[in-house]
Amino acid sequence: MAQLSEDCFAFGGAMLTLDVARAQIAEAHTVKAGVETVALADALGRILAHDFIAPLSLPPADNSAVDGYAVHFDDLQTAAPTTLPVHGRTAAGKLSPASLPRGRAHRIFTGAVMPTGADTVVMQEDCTVEADRVTVKPGIRRGANLRLTGEDVPRGAVALAAGRRLMPPDVGLLAALGCLGTEVRTPLRVALFSTGDELATPPAPLQPGQVYDANKPMLAALLRRLRVAVIDGGILPDTAAATRDALRAAAGSADLVITSGGVSAGEEDHVRAAIESVGRLQFWRVAIKPGRPVALGVLNTTPLLGLPGNPVAALVTFSMLGRPLLDRLAGAVHLPPPRFLARSAFGYRKKPGRREYLRVQLDADSVAHRYPKDGAGILTSLTESDALMELPEAMTALEPGEVVPCIPLGLLHG
Ligand code: AMP
Ligand code: MG
Repeated sequence: MAQLSEDCFAFGGAMLTLDVARAQIAEAHTVKAGVETVALADALGRILAHDFIAPLSLPPADNSAVDGYAVHFDDLQTAAPTTLPVHGRTAAGKLSPASLPRGRAHRIFTGAVMPTGADTVVMQEDCTVEADRVTVKPGIRRGANLRLTGEDVPRGAVALAAGRRLMPPDVGLLAALGCLGTEVRTPLRVALFSTGDELATPPAPLQPGQVYDANKPMLAALLRRLRVAVIDGGILPDTAAATRDALRAAAGSADLVITSGGVSAGEEDHVRAAIESVGRLQFWRVAIKPGRPVALGVLNTTPLLGLPGNPVAALVTFSMLGRPLLDRLAGAVHLPPPRFLARSAFGYRKKPGRREYLRVQLDADSVAHRYPKDGAGILTSLTESDALMELPEAMTALEPGEVVPCIPLGLLHG
């Protein structure tokens, strides 16, 4: 607490660190998604409901990793070339002979099942062939170029764990294991609102003082990538009654309600008050920049997440708090986005006690350059940056040349 700046309690309520806020999310919320079976072709992006146990070994049989000659390793001379008569031939998908007699080599191709007895494959580049005899170079290792049964996944092993969001390689693995379809979590239903009397939606022309709503389409896009069913709640006017009534109605029909804007302490900000009046507020201030005002509450059993209105703050808080919450409700294991180390091209002073995310461009040498326009409302600072540089709570000064973690923006949205 001592590290938090003095404005922590300025408007009532403790300001939480990001880690504490995340821990509270994990503690207070649990999975809401059901389970359904989908065909493998529809499984991309869905969350595996149960551990997937391999029904067969992968590969199912010992086979060759190269085009070449299968041999008994003990038939090879260690220091000189070895010449062996060629006995039989197996291509991929064809049955191999029952066994390879000692003193013979067997012509074999990538993916073909090994004849029993053979324990090593010499790649054809290391062989010379004359008539029906093959001469192999010395120096081959026992077991070379052999793929063993089950070396990828043994039968009965957990091939993919429950809670995994299925990515294209996972689909490949499931297919290789003979899976036609699998049980996944049902999509969450998320009601999404923008708030603000200044917001307009095309094609309506902008009236003086208006801006077009950027957050709802942006957040809907983030949610759709997570295979969420988005319920468009529209734009809420800046009145207490409308905000309260809309949030209460949405909480009755959605698994989660997300708003943006109207969550600060001004008299035009009604989201926090609405959460307090119809539900219970869990927190509403997190020590993170951009994005300090971000509220989480619960109405009956439906969580309500109030993101800040500035688009950059909305995106950062969605990624840092909304995503772990969504993963929790969806039954997904939450994997924090990977950080890459980059050298900072710039120096920076910051207040202690809050985590800061700076938008940076990475050059070819992994040097991070600060995006020059850093306002929380500057949308092009997101479209033209590569990564968020993460400055920890305790830091007060970043020196040029320091190596710091950065989160590629593309991975935040994935
Ligand atoms: P608020 O958090 O409601 O005080 O809004 C902070 C700033 O973000 C204001 O400049 C708002 O106009 C802007 N803002 C709020 N919501 C949106 C939105 N959905 N799209 C674009 N800008 C917004
Ligand atoms: Mg507003």
